[in-house]
Amino acid sequence: MAKAARASDKRAPVTPSSTTLVWFRNDLRVDDHRALAAACGAGGVVPVFILDRAAMGQWPLGGASRWWLHGSLTALAADLEQRGSRLILRQGDTATLLLELAAASGATTVMCSRAYEPWAAAQEQQVRDRLAAAGVTLKRYAGALLFEPEAVRTKTGDPYKVYTPFWRATSGGQPPAPPIAAPQTIPAPAKWPRSDALASWSLLPTRPDWAAGMRAEWTPGTSGARARLETFFQSALADYPAARNRPDIVGTSRLSPHLHFGEISPATCWHAAKAYAQRHNTPAASLEVFLKELVWREFSYHLLVHWPTLPDAPFRADFARFPWADNAAQLAAWQRGQTGYPIVDAGMRELWTTGWMHNRVRMIVGSFLVKNLLLPWQAGEAWFWDTLVDADLASNSASWQWVAGSGADAAPYFRIFNPVTQGETYDPDGIYVRKWVPEIARLPNVLLHKPWTAPREILAAAGITLGKTYPQPIVDHSITRIRALDAFKSLKTL
Ligand code: FAD
Repeated sequence: MAKAARASDKRAPVTPSSTTLVWFRNDLRVDDHRALAAACGAGGVVPVFILDRAAMGQWPLGGASRWWLHGSLTALAADLEQRGSRLILRQGDTATLLLELAAASGATTVMCSRAYEPWAAAQEQQVRDRLAAAGVTLKRYAGALLFEPEAVRTKTGDPYKVYTPFWRATSGGQPPAPPIAAPQTIPAPAKWPRSDALASWSLLPTRPDWAAGMRAEWTPGTSGARARLETFFQSALADYPAARNRPDIVGTSRLSPHLHFGEISPATCWHAAKAYAQRHNTPAASLEVFLKELVWREFSYHLLVHWPTLPDAPFRADFARFPWADNAAQLAAWQRGQTGYPIVDAGMRELWTTGWMHNRVRMIVGSFLVKNLLLPWQAGEAWFWDTLVDADLASNSASWQWVAGSGADAAPYFRIFNPVTQGETYDPDGIYVRKWVPEIARLPNVLLHKPWTAPREILAAAGITLGKTYPQPIVDHSITRIRALDAFKSLKTL
């Protein structure tokens, strides 16, 4: 009899005798979400997202990120509603609001996923202390990374500074935990606290509305992320090792903003890629190159957690003395895609219009800014921060330091990309440049990446007046290359 009673208890719906707040951060999904799963097993759940502009300090959300966040929160709210729940939105100091929401809903526990930015770590400590003082417990779960930064150590117990041994250590160890399914229903609390209306946060641009190109390209949210992953597997994974370097074709996954906002977990991408490759006999090398890129993201977080000054200060201390130039006009020409170097301008315009730029082109425009213009990498980092939909403190700062040569495992400073040969190699038919720099589209392929070398009659036939319809190069590559090498050598003699 007692046994039967226990069995029927098991089948009874969970009554929300206790309530848990699930504090969403950059984990805007319902599947592979350990905090949400744990909260669902404990009683009623109040999903919460707090926009805490002050906590982000010198890294407030950029314009493109604000646009994305609006779409991502809309999608998350819909995914929660489908499961009988809702998303409570509040704006202000996180600890104060979590305490207020806990009191309003009778919650004694707050659950969240870990966030890794230095400001987020400081915020979390403050939240933990203030909740504890009020008798509310904060429970934190992993989920944004495949490998916790503290879990990967060299033989001497230090963090890694070089990618290849980091890859060997992570790929040779325990595989990432498999993703967990989304809860089918999310138990409601006895009492719902009030929520802001998302529109009142004014995350979307209005005057002017510069987001048309982003709306055309992206679908923020988990279903958009899953669609990208599936399309990538079917159309690009097999050729990924070569095609990923070509901005003129869709050869990469374009998952970066989805991964940044946590709409899809890296574990889901990792395990789905392995399963797909097995089912479709995808070449092992193609799968491995993709997994390695996911691990570049891990490596960036590893560096950020162990060297929290990465976004601001050069990793290599001697770079603090680097003789950077200061030229607002050249910086503006770079930002607007008006340098006179077509592959650079194409990339900067793709970024401005869609909020994303191909990785190869990020490296080209980065090298141009830092080496040809000799402008500080932090200026490029700040522009990317504002304009990228995947702006990510770890990947952006680690990548800019890599480009600048000041990073942990950086490209050597003396390797300076030639924007003409880069364009000719990776956009050989000019498809990418013609799309983004239409004013030179009628030039033949052999001249497209170096219009200033075109004979006058060819320019005229293509409808181009250099300096008027398209800029003359703002600097000479060969001269500025030598200037950059000299600047680099000066570090050694100082
Ligand atoms: P895929 O080739 O499909 O790769 C899959 C995933 O792996 C990506 O979505 C991304 O999460 C990760 N990944 C791939 N390459 C890298 C890399 N080099 N470093 C870290 N993670 C990587 N990436 C960001 O997510 N946010 C940034 O703010 C950012 N800033 C960058 C700045 C510069 C100057 C450079 C050179 C690179 C930057 N990157 C950044 C890395 C990289 O360019 C993008 O992750 C990639 O282009 C995203 O496209 P994808 O999703 O199609 O990549």
